Amino acid sequence: MLKVENLAIHYGGIQAVRGISFEVKAGELVSLIGSNGAGKTSTLRAISGLVNPSSGNVYIDGKVVTDMPANKRVSLGLAHCPEARKIFSQQSVLDNLTLGAYLRFGKEKKSDIETSIEEMFAIFPKLKERQKQVAGTLSGGEQQMLAIGRALMLKPKILMLDEPSMGLAPVIIEEVFRVIERIKSARTTTILLVEQLAFMALKVADRGIVLEQGVIRLEGPAADLKDNPIVREAYLGVK
Ligand code: ATP
Repeated sequence: MLKVENLAIHYGGIQAVRGISFEVKAGELVSLIGSNGAGKTSTLRAISGLVNPSSGNVYIDGKVVTDMPANKRVSLGLAHCPEARKIFSQQSVLDNLTLGAYLRFGKEKKSDIETSIEEMFAIFPKLKERQKQVAGTLSGGEQQMLAIGRALMLKPKILMLDEPSMGLAPVIIEEVFRVIERIKSARTTTILLVEQLAFMALKVADRGIVLEQGVIRLEGPAADLKDNPIVREAYLGVK
């Protein structure tokens, strides 16, 4: 469903990603973990077309998209929920969700989009309660939920989530991960999750990839990685 091959990313003289290759199969949830500056965000940005890789290729559904503009990749079914959430803070919760479906406008009936909004309200009951509220006044956790909900309104084939736990309190993080688990269990969306909270990310994933200084240090079934001594010491704080 999603593949990167020998992906390298430079920012001027800095090499952030050094020729990595991996694949995310349809319906799978893969977590990309690693410490600050490992190259996780850069990898997601190259996949979605927000940064040009210096070499390598990105494939969506077997199709090379390396030179395709970001908006075209969205129409292939790729949704990217970035680190800073980037919701429309001046718009209401309902408007944010509706705008998330912009690519479906004119192609689908209004009632289909309304049905999707109801589905989002079922996953995120808080958003239903706050549907008329201006998004910028939501709590951090609610804004994160809205960002995920808005991305889901595209009915993406692939959802990329960048650090959904960032800046949130532990109980809210648990809630966000429950939502990710729920999206995964429907098995209709392929998920690539970037997280510094390695334990949570591996708990929810099918497979994990450990990125260190722009290279893949380890990869494998998430359950195996959780038990791996290197991962336990470096990322889970267990010796
Ligand atoms: P974090 O969790 O802190 O976001 P990360 O694993 O996502 O870390 P990246 O954000 O991809 O890592 O950064 C990888 C490297 O590239 C870092 O050394 C970072 O300083 C550098 N970098 C990232 N974006 C830029 C940029 N726009 N210009 C210059 N250097 C950058």
